[in-house]
Amino acid sequence: MSSLRDIPSVDRLLLALRRQVADVSHALLRDAARAEIDLLRSEVQGGAVFPQESLLNLLVDRAAARLASDLEPRLRPVINASGVIIQTNLGRAPLSATALAAMVHVGAGYTNLEYDLEAGERGSRNIHLEALLRRLSGAESALAVNNNAAAIYLALSALAVGREVIVSRGQAVEIGGGFRIPDVLRQSGATLVEVGTTNRTYALDYAAAISERTALLLRVHTSNFRLVGFVHETGLAELAEMGHARGVPVLDDLGSGTLLPTAPYGLASEPTVSESVAAGADLVTFSGDKLLGGPQAGLIVGKKELVDQLKRHPLARALRLDKTTIAGLEATLLIYLRGRAIEEIPVWQMIAASLDGLRARAESLAIQLAHTGATVAITDCASAVGGGSLPGATLPSIGITLAPGPRSADECGRRLRTGRPAVVARIAEGRVVFDLRTVLPEQDAALARAIVAACTAGES
Ligand SMILES: *Cc1c(COP(=O)(O)O)cnc(C)c1O
Repeated sequence: MSSLRDIPSVDRLLLALRRQVADVSHALLRDAARAEIDLLRSEVQGGAVFPQESLLNLLVDRAAARLASDLEPRLRPVINASGVIIQTNLGRAPLSATALAAMVHVGAGYTNLEYDLEAGERGSRNIHLEALLRRLSGAESALAVNNNAAAIYLALSALAVGREVIVSRGQAVEIGGGFRIPDVLRQSGATLVEVGTTNRTYALDYAAAISERTALLLRVHTSNFRLVGFVHETGLAELAEMGHARGVPVLDDLGSGTLLPTAPYGLASEPTVSESVAAGADLVTFSGDKLLGGPQAGLIVGKKELVDQLKRHPLARALRLDKTTIAGLEATLLIYLRGRAIEEIPVWQMIAASLDGLRARAESLAIQLAHTGATVAITDCASAVGGGSLPGATLPSIGITLAPGPRSADECGRRLRTGRPAVVARIAEGRVVFDLRTVLPEQDAALARAIVAACTAGES
């Protein structure tokens, strides 16, 4: 039986703890020891009973577990079996091996980030990506910042402060995560002028709203929502023609944007960046970590005169990219230049993955799981591209489902999410569904182990 007097002192616990945990600071060890002693004291006061002779061991174990948890990174890898390829909550695009290698290579030492090696003097961090972006988009000039929200904010701040920006009512949308076009406009100091109606906006609506106060015509990809039925939006080419006739530049926020056509993979056509440039958009903004498949960034391509104004704006300094991101983006863009995106960029490998290939992986997983007590079936399912691109569109896919065994699907799902590595799957009709399109092939074995650990009989 135990009483408060039996609880070991902090010093005694520290001594015992030190024998188990060698490589952490005294302060961290002491904090863990104190926290566990306080906790045990309140448990004893609350009437909990422990064998007196095991109190020290109990405290050592608990303090060691607390230290291990304190020292584990909170940001952890997740196996994405949800079937959503670009999932903002799961960190969007997984990076290619080449991009990762470039980030490690450049991050480990010094670089010519802002140093002209030829001239031996200060250089610009913009030049590393600019030529590549120009070449891949057909635009005159380019700039990369922290994310697409930053790109839009910078463009509005540099070009439209104190002036008006004309947007179709059907495009004054919230993209998600609290990013609302009307709010961003207001915040940047521009005035929103909405034209047309929610479902129909014509070129004439824009034309009637243009005045000497107009700074920009803004077109926004409506991202994760789609209007169907009696709908009309003004085409970009028409908008650009009208803007140019009246001396007003057009900013096209593509959202995801893509450098490759999506139609060959059975998807609707997501507008490509070069199509926007060719249609006459003066500035085009898009994300680095959606369909581009690179690290988080916002890319701006367009007319040199306008991009130069963005580069010179004080905000550009606050929104600039760090060297590892530039390295990852450059490596990603070089893959496109080599014509190897489908083979090397995970987002595109997932989009292009064949049903036969997915079925073979599902069969192999089912065999691995066959004698573990799990009831596994191969199933047809549907993946989504996500990231605000191609709303509503799905790709047929193959996965495995797990029938409830000793644990319910919900309990199994929770244990999968909190495991190491974490697994995020879908739950449908009382079963756990694992869509293999979004699982990286090299993660299949880890997925099988995670399913066994989380969902079959065993320690609870
Ligand atoms: C995703 C998205 C954004 C925001 O891009 P981030 O890279 O997340 O900052 C802006 N506009 C549209 C249309 C989007 O789809």
